[in-house]
Amino acid sequence: AYGSGAADDAASLGAHGASRVIILGDDDRPAIAHAPAAVAAVRDVGALALLAPATPNGRDLAAALVGSLHLPAFGPVRAARVVDGVLETEQATLQGSVVTTSRPVEGVATPSVVLVLANTFTPGEGGTGSADVSRGPIGTESAFGKVTVAESHPADAKVVNLEEATVIVAGGRGVGGEEGFGPLRDLAAALGGAVGASRAAADAGWIPYQLQIGQTGKVVKPSLYIGAGISGAIQHRVGMQTAEHVVAINRDPDAPIGEFADLFVVGDLFKIVPALTDEIRRRSGA
Ligand SMILES: Cc1cc2nc3c(=O)[nH]c(=O)nc-3n(C[C@H](O)[C@H](O)[C@H](O)COP(=O)(O)OP(=O)(O)OC[C@H]3O[C@@H](n4cnc5c(N)ncnc54)[C@H](O)[C@@H]3O)c2cc1C
Repeated sequence: AYGSGAADDAASLGAHGASRVIILGDDDRPAIAHAPAAVAAVRDVGALALLAPATPNGRDLAAALVGSLHLPAFGPVRAARVVDGVLETEQATLQGSVVTTSRPVEGVATPSVVLVLANTFTPGEGGTGSADVSRGPIGTESAFGKVTVAESHPADAKVVNLEEATVIVAGGRGVGGEEGFGPLRDLAAALGGAVGASRAAADAGWIPYQLQIGQTGKVVKPSLYIGAGISGAIQHRVGMQTAEHVVAINRDPDAPIGEFADLFVVGDLFKIVPALTDEIRRRSGA
C-alpha cells in the first residue's frame, strides 16, 4: 500500500483477505516515487503473483518492478488464478470475442506482475479481520535514486482518470458543441463524478480524447453511468457496459442505448440534465 493515509487503512485490508500489508510510503508523492521501496519489498516477499490495477499509477509501479527485477508481465487481465501451483491469466481481445489464456514460461523469476482491469473486480469479503501491517524496506534501487521530483501541480481538472471514477456523466453528439458539456459538468460535479464522452464528441473536438469511452477509448466500470445525447453504438457500449447502473437521456425513443439502459429517459437533455442537477443539489442541501 502507498499514498496519503495508507497506514491508517492498511489493517482493514484483512477483511478482504490480506494477511500482511507492507506500507511503501505514507505520502502524496506519485506512485513511481515508491518504486525503490516496492522493488525492495518484492525481493523480500516470496509471492507467486503481484497484482496491480491497470491505472496510470498501477502501470508505473508494475513497469518499474518488471524492468528492475526482470519479471514476467501480464495484462490487463480479466481473470487470474493458480492452477496446479502455476499462475494462469485471461485476457479478452477483439471486443471479448477472443479470450487468451497465458502462463509464465518455466523457470522465470517470480512474482509475475499482473495488471488487472481497474474497477472490474469487487473486493472479496470474509477475510480473517485484521492484516499485519509493516513498513517496507528502504529501497536503494540505483536508477530511481537518480531521479528527484522537480515540480508537481494539479492535473487539468477537465482530464480526470475516468477508469477510477464511480460516477460518470457522458455526452455525445447530441450535446451539440463544446459549451453543451457545461450542463453535464454541473451534473457530474453535483454527483461527485467525472465527465466522459462518445467518440463523436471527441472527434468533433468538443472534449479531450482522454475522456472518450469505448472500443478505441477508455473502458470504465462506474457505479453510475449517465449518457446524454449518446445513441449507444456497439463501439461505445463495449466501454461502459459493465457499469452497475446505466441511465440514458435521449430524445429518440428508438435510440439503441434504450435497449440496455436500466433507466431510459426520453426527452431533451438540455431540459432534463439541468433539472436533474437542481434536484440533486436541492436534496443534498448544496
Ligand atoms: C473502429 C471504430 C471504433 C470506434 N470507437 C468508438 C469508441 O471508442 N467510442 C465511441 O463512443 N464510439 C466509437 N466509434 C463510433 C461509434 O460507431 C458511433 O459513431 C459513436 O459512438 C456515436 O456517437 P454518439 O452516440 O455521440 O452520436 P450519435 O450516434 O450521432 O448519437 C447522438 C444521439 O444524441 C441524441 N440527441 C440529439 N440531440 C439530443 C438532445 N437535445 N437531447 C437528447 N438526445 C439528443 C440523438 O437522438 C442520438 O441518439 C467507433 C467506430 C468505429 C468504426
